[in-house]
Amino acid sequence: MDCIFCKIASGEIPCKKAYEDDQILGFYDLDPQAPTHILLIPKEHIGSAMEITAENSQIVGHIFAVAAKLAKEHGLEKGFRIVNNCGEDGGQTVQHLHFHLLGGRSMQWPPG
Ligand code: 5GP
Ligand code: ZN
Repeated sequence: MDCIFCKIASGEIPCKKAYEDDQILGFYDLDPQAPTHILLIPKEHIGSAMEITAENSQIVGHIFAVAAKLAKEHGLEKGFRIVNNCGEDGGQTVQHLHFHLLGGRSMQWPPG
């Protein structure tokens, strides 16, 4: 499968790692939208949040626990934002489930 994040997860495409274990990978976004911008992905290919089921949803809780740990390590005590873009209307550009951890500046609401 020609999936850029599967290739990053396997090491075929390099990335700047922020976190790794046997299930997930955290790496710095190439085009950061905030002073801290980390992408968190399952190593297993899941196409989008639309494909989260009772069987695979454990990974989402794990990603959020790691996001909280990374936020503390990156000094985001004032807060942060976790974003998932899903599908065409959600603005998803890479078709492998990922969560953006953004912090280090004040965020706007509502998003565009
Ligand atoms: P999406 O728009 O799908 O929610 O987010 C995809 C994100 O992946 C974008 O923020 C984009 O900058 C990032 N991205 C795309 N390709 C690469 C890459 O090869 N390496 C890294 N580190 N980030 C990437
Ligand atoms: Zn993939």
